[in-house]
Amino acid sequence: MSVLASPSLVVPGVGTRWLKRVDMAGPVPEHAPSLGPCWPTDGPTNSKGYPIISAGGKTTLLHLVVYPAVYGPIPPGWEVDHLCHHPDYCKKKDSCPHRRCGNPGHWRAVPRMENNLRSGSPTAVNARKDECIRGHPLTGDNLIVRADRPDHRECKACRRLRRQLALAIEVATAGGTGEQLVLL
Ligand SMILES: [Zn+2]
Ligand SMILES: [Zn+2]
Ligand SMILES: [Zn+2]
Repeated sequence: MSVLASPSLVVPGVGTRWLKRVDMAGPVPEHAPSLGPCWPTDGPTNSKGYPIISAGGKTTLLHLVVYPAVYGPIPPGWEVDHLCHHPDYCKKKDSCPHRRCGNPGHWRAVPRMENNLRSGSPTAVNARKDECIRGHPLTGDNLIVRADRPDHRECKACRRLRRQLALAIEVATAGGTGEQLVLL
């Protein structure tokens, strides 16, 4: 399970410039409402529809620079999967609107093979009822079951991630660097 030390939306070589291109009130993914809204990203994309941005003088894919700022390095041979995309709900392939989603909370790094499996096979998702959408175990300490909604199972790691990202958004949109948070 990945634990975020200090997620930052202030991206090296980019700063918060990229946040001016996102709409934080996009549609909420039908198959996973707990993810919250997509952040449709304006501006230039590559030929497949993924947003690009100049970072430190080079043009690169947006998620390749934002993901490491938030989560740390993408392991070699892994790639960033958009959780808001689900092949059962979105059949748009190359015009898939989720490729423009700049919400880091909708991204997960997975080994390339697993990503292909997920996009090609809807049953791969159904087979994982004991895991949350990010692959955290929905068991033991990580499982939250509320007394008033016993059928609703929530992932503690994902809840922590949502809170950390909400804080990172506040810091980035206030123009800070995140360092002031150490004192809180
Ligand atoms: Zn999204
Ligand atoms: Zn899609
Ligand atoms: Zn989770």
